[in-house]
Amino acid sequence: MSDDIPNIVQNDFDIEIKKLRDQIDQIDEQILTLISKRFLEVQKVVTLKKKHNMPVFHPAREEDLISKLRSEAQQRDMDPDFIEELYRVILRNSRIHQTVEMKQQGVRVGAKVLIVGGFGQMGSYFAWFFTTSGYEVRILSENNWDKVESLCTDIDLVLISVPIHVTLETIQRIAPYLPKEALLADLTSIKTAPLNEMLKVHKGPVLGLHPLFGPTCPTLDKQIIAITQGREPEKCQWLIDQLILWGAIVVSSTAKEHDEIMDIVQALRHFATFCFGQFLSKREIGLHRTLEFSSPIYRLEMGMVGRLFAQDSSLYSEIVFATPSRRKLLKDFVLSLNEQLDMLENNDKELFVEKFNETAKWFGSFSEQALRESTFIINKLIERF
Ligand code: NAD
Repeated sequence: MSDDIPNIVQNDFDIEIKKLRDQIDQIDEQILTLISKRFLEVQKVVTLKKKHNMPVFHPAREEDLISKLRSEAQQRDMDPDFIEELYRVILRNSRIHQTVEMKQQGVRVGAKVLIVGGFGQMGSYFAWFFTTSGYEVRILSENNWDKVESLCTDIDLVLISVPIHVTLETIQRIAPYLPKEALLADLTSIKTAPLNEMLKVHKGPVLGLHPLFGPTCPTLDKQIIAITQGREPEKCQWLIDQLILWGAIVVSSTAKEHDEIMDIVQALRHFATFCFGQFLSKREIGLHRTLEFSSPIYRLEMGMVGRLFAQDSSLYSEIVFATPSRRKLLKDFVLSLNEQLDMLENNDKELFVEKFNETAKWFGSFSEQALRESTFIINKLIERF
């Protein structure tokens, strides 16, 4: 004990702080009891959803809950962002529990699923989901085409999951073995050409799928899968129901719209990142040294750029070079940089400001949201690293 503090004062302090800490401990226990009580209630919801084959994620319910909690937090003079963050963690945790339980659930247990390319990344990922949900899963790989006839016997779903550049020929090759009633679907990252080919060679139900995520996601919770209807949607619905039951969010479009949007969402995004990474790699300055001086935004950006180069180059080359129209868009992008070159050469600050403001207008109200979301991510990054 310090000589400066009289004994009696120190004793009072010890007694008082112990009392306060005991109260906090009690509150923590109550919080744990309440969270576990909430968890038990969620279990009841899972049982009910399982019984009725309902999806895990209910976006409207979650957003309503968050809005309600935010306004309650404000009334109690608490930070609404803190309460939102706390509840997002609780809700995500409960969704993942539900998804893990529900992934066992099969919409058509016992149905026979053939995955063409089923030993590849996406093929084996989906093979695992189908298997754990009670489907009979068969795999057609490059090496067992001699068994294609028996593998296709009585098949209910054929899912094409081969590299983009061999997708069309694989669809043509399997077509003669498909029972008329079988559902033919694919996972290709482009949709127009594979969907047209599937419709051309198969007269039964056809559905195009594009999971907008890679095979490293542990659950399908809130993962987006784009779907493009081909033929006999009522006979394809069970597959869509199954994806939703596994936790995925399904977004529908025509193949044309899908491909146009993916030109931007995937090809342009990855290509611009590739160009930036390439440019940096040619500079004299060392990456690690720049990271030591990182602003949060540079650190975040480098996380995204570095991430691209940590992955499979052939996957990205397939995405970037997938179609002529895609390559045309990327060329337009590169050519558009000439405009910026002129601006720099002319030292035209005014033009920069003008272009900046024009672009800000185009982003409109999304700018606000982007600022909020990226601030959240940056803060998380600072917390962690
Ligand atoms: P991958 O290379 O990991 O797997 C493809 C598999 O197909 C390999 O096992 C290969 O041996 C097999 N294969 C090749 N030719 C074959 C043939 N003629 N017959 C049977 N099998 C054959 O590729 P992936 O990343 O799993 O991609 C598969 C599909 O999924 C592609 O259309 C891709 O666009 C799409 N996709 C991939 C991702 C991703 O992140 N990997 C995401 C969304 C969609």
